[in-house]
Amino acid sequence: MPLVVQKYGGSSVATVENLRGVAGRVAARRRAGDDVVVVVSAMGQTTDELLELARRVSPAPPRRELDMLLSAGERIAMALLAMALHEEGVDAKSFTGSQAGILTDEAHAAARIVEVRPVRVREELGRGRVVIVAGYQGVSREKEVTTLGRGGSDTTAVALAAALGADCEIYSDVAGVFTADPRLVPAARRLDGIGYEEMQELARAGAKVLNARAVEFARDRAIAIRARSTFGGPEETVVSARPAAGGVAGVAAAPAVALFELAVRALPAARQAFARHGARELGASSAAGHAALCLSLEDVHAPEALRADLAAAGAAPIEAAGIGALSAVGRGAEEPRVAEAVQEVLLELGAPPLALFVGPLRVTACCAAARLPEAARRLHARLLE
Ligand code: ASP
Ligand code: MG
Repeated sequence: MPLVVQKYGGSSVATVENLRGVAGRVAARRRAGDDVVVVVSAMGQTTDELLELARRVSPAPPRRELDMLLSAGERIAMALLAMALHEEGVDAKSFTGSQAGILTDEAHAAARIVEVRPVRVREELGRGRVVIVAGYQGVSREKEVTTLGRGGSDTTAVALAAALGADCEIYSDVAGVFTADPRLVPAARRLDGIGYEEMQELARAGAKVLNARAVEFARDRAIAIRARSTFGGPEETVVSARPAAGGVAGVAAAPAVALFELAVRALPAARQAFARHGARELGASSAAGHAALCLSLEDVHAPEALRADLAAAGAAPIEAAGIGALSAVGRGAEEPRVAEAVQEVLLELGAPPLALFVGPLRVTACCAAARLPEAARRLHARLLE
């Protein structure tokens, strides 16, 4: 029987009505004869609400305890979806990441999947059940609950699809991957296809539609990801080894970044320090022994401690707060006109770039976060309209 892993994001299961809708779709797929594994995210804004709760208790919560807290969001969604499927007359069973055999390293709140042993998932599929797996979480060798970093349910889905030899469909509130976030840039267009590397760079640059590590996983295992809307029709974007048509595939914005300057020789120590805090490198450039380093703070939950550790490693912040990153991604990103367009757009908006990073598939400029939405619209107009 064909086997599919379907992942539904937070907005797809935000309300009880939405959950019922997803159950109806899964039930229809099951009745059509497919074996189905469903990976769910936490309902709506649950993860943000849990993080806010933690912040009210502690400005620097231990990352282990954050994982105990945050993993509860997906656990709620998985159990409710299993109940909704029973109401549809479909036999279903839910599993936590740990029960589903998602084994990770020990990096709390930004863990990497190291192995998938879906023994119980296979058993239940063999009994004719739909299996629901809590996304975004796993278990370490020490039997500690871990989470995979924000947006990590995608990675759960891809990892399970790879381990089970299944197709992978990822459902959200947008009908695939667009040339920019359509909620931000109304002129954005859906891409029929995009290559793994381009998609990884778009995700790193802040595109929310797919998680960067999930795409990395898919690339390493040659899994095609089909990104679709939960609420829409058959439109989709296929993420595979085939690159998108055209030189620039898309534009993305990341609202929460930090920028540091340091001596080039201090880079290794700085990298060790920020990795402990869950920060991700968005760009690094160096000239004459000096380096600039741009970090995404999405999975940082104790920003003051991060700054202190980076200061100890010799990295000083450039501008205190309110920095974002604007990126253009694609095989044409290295053409000088792309970096020029990024800089011109920011100058027009009175938000001159604080740093510019040019890589083979991505140009990223750090700038005032408040200008990002308008900057993304203008950059899209220049490069993609
Ligand atoms: N619920 C988690 C988050 O909001 C994981 C996910 O949605 O993929 O980041
Ligand atoms: Mg979520």
